[in-house]
Amino acid sequence: MDKKDIKSLTLQELTQELKEMGMASFRGKQIFQWLHGKLADEFDQMTNLSIKDRQSLKERYFITRLKPERILVSKIDGTRKYLFSLADGNVIESVWMKYKHGNSVCISSQVGCRMGCRFCASTLDGLERNLLPSEMLDQVYQIQKDTGERVDNVVVMGSGEPMDNYDNLVRFIRLLSDEQGLNISQRSITVSTCGIVPGIEKLSEEGLSVTLALSLHAPNDQVRKTLMPIANRYLLKDVLAACHQYFVKTGRRLTFEYSLVRGVNDTPEEAMALAKLLKGQHGHVNLIPVNPIKERDYVQSDHRSIQAFKNLLEKNGINVTIRREMGRDINGACGQLRKSYLDQPVS
Ligand code: SAH
Repeated sequence: MDKKDIKSLTLQELTQELKEMGMASFRGKQIFQWLHGKLADEFDQMTNLSIKDRQSLKERYFITRLKPERILVSKIDGTRKYLFSLADGNVIESVWMKYKHGNSVCISSQVGCRMGCRFCASTLDGLERNLLPSEMLDQVYQIQKDTGERVDNVVVMGSGEPMDNYDNLVRFIRLLSDEQGLNISQRSITVSTCGIVPGIEKLSEEGLSVTLALSLHAPNDQVRKTLMPIANRYLLKDVLAACHQYFVKTGRRLTFEYSLVRGVNDTPEEAMALAKLLKGQHGHVNLIPVNPIKERDYVQSDHRSIQAFKNLLEKNGINVTIRREMGRDINGACGQLRKSYLDQPVS
């Protein structure tokens, strides 16, 4: 019999399975707390269980545990970038950032990505596989253990398209916000999507209160198509309608991410068109100076154009922030650490 992934089970599922194994019903909660609250990596750490119970758990289940292969620490602001290996040898990356309002972790949702955004390093080698809920959780758990500090916010903005791994994403959110686990408020969890309309619609019906971030990157379909292949599939008007519905259903204000690429999407005309496009939407724009990757020749907009773009949006009634660049010295765009690891010659 293949062993089951115990860290991906909800408290209810776990309790039910243990009952079927003949264990007392309170054991479910105890074991769940060990896994998701005390962040145990081994059954033998669960000292309030008998050796016999631990043995039968070991026979049926495995505990997902990511292994840090590399940790890069910024000398400027303490940002930490992790390269984790998974049980099957794949590697993924996650980032820990310290802000005034708390500690944030940016996690990956897939190994690689198949969305093909032109400026993104995560997608260069395509999609390898989806991450399990436990593999998404364990990025947060291992980082909390490594830093010794509580994680306050989680953003699903690392490699991968979360809506392309929908069921595992939703399960991950429920487990991460479970009050018997790390109990991270759903309001402190952000899911970033390139704009998969059915996914956004479905997420708005889950009864969750996570923040939705849309990777917009252009004020019209024509420019968007040059940067993001997904724009050929879903029209902006439909993507934005789904986002608005998300706000109506959940009451959560939206974030619109806009990576500024010199000469592609950063002109004053585009700022005006963006302001017009977002009129009536409830949310704010987060401007990201594009992080150049060596495989593509996209260049960051200069400081003045970024400021001018921001001012024009503000003048036209749009809330806007410029994303602070964290860990400049260990920077590398989304997916670059993994890519450089995979590309290194085997010695
Ligand atoms: N697939 C999801 C989440 C992962 S990407 C999404 O598309 O939203 C997280 C954010 O980083 C997205 O807004 C993405 O477009 C942006 N991004 C990726 N590579 C980048 C780069 N090189 N420079 C700036 N932003 C980048």
